Amino acid sequence: MKYALVTGGSRGIGRAICVKLSQMGCHVIINYNSNREAALETQQKVEALGGSAELLPFDVADEEQVNAALDRWNDKHPDETISILVNNAGIRRDGLTVFMSNEEWQDVLNTNLNGFFYLTRRLVKEMMTKRYGRIINIASLSGLKGTPGQLNYSAAKAAMIGATKALAQEVGARKITVNAVAPGFIATDMTKELDEASLKKMIPAGRFGEPEEVAAVVGFLASDEAAYINGEVISVNGGLYT
Ligand code: NAP
Repeated sequence: MKYALVTGGSRGIGRAICVKLSQMGCHVIINYNSNREAALETQQKVEALGGSAELLPFDVADEEQVNAALDRWNDKHPDETISILVNNAGIRRDGLTVFMSNEEWQDVLNTNLNGFFYLTRRLVKEMMTKRYGRIINIASLSGLKGTPGQLNYSAAKAAMIGATKALAQEVGARKITVNAVAPGFIATDMTKELDEASLKKMIPAGRFGEPEEVAAVVGFLASDEAAYINGEVISVNGGLYT
């Protein structure tokens, strides 16, 4: 059985990814920051479908918490390796650049980019030893085209895409793939206060995407069939930006 860690697995896209990977036969480690109730709901959903999952709370932006949680996990599972890592946890703090505070800039970079780094650096080491791994980074359309009002978020996601390509080349010889998925507008808590009626007019598909539509691509990238796809960014955006 493969062990898959999904950061931000309590809600939205992360929850759908947990369900998808569990249906592919993985034991899922559901990370979350503070919303234990939602994380338990994800766990129940996985278990109701016959899968297995456990909760592993920590703040991805806090390196000490990341390492302490993974140390605890290793103590509990001395013979197991996390071979699939999905860096999904993310936040947005939107605002025009001229009004953006240092805190808004740093919070978004800390969670969306530094979190990716702390987890990936730690887990890729064991993947290299075992000569197998899948790292899937949830980027964004904003990281590809840039979104006005999201300087911080666009910068973090663009950096994540650059890092994906760099790491793919570092570790490809060890049978580890590193890819990114770039969603457009997906119906989750993150987008619930956006004006969907007017935004969907810009989307060729005429609607927001569903978390499961992102999870399907993550599932494929995590599978053995995707062994020859490395350093790619796959958009899931209804044709909004190509
Ligand atoms: P969401 O519904 O707001 O859920 C965010 C998830 O991230 C929650 O599970 C949350 O945990 C977790 N999280 C936030 N900060 C964290 C931290 N510091 N440490 C650990 N976990 C943390 O968001 P979503 O829409 O599913 O987004 C998931 C990913 O997709 C994000 O990286 C986002 O940037 C990206 N994305 C989303 C869209 C979209 O349209 N929705 C588009 C492009 C990209 P708690 O429940 O504990 O708060």
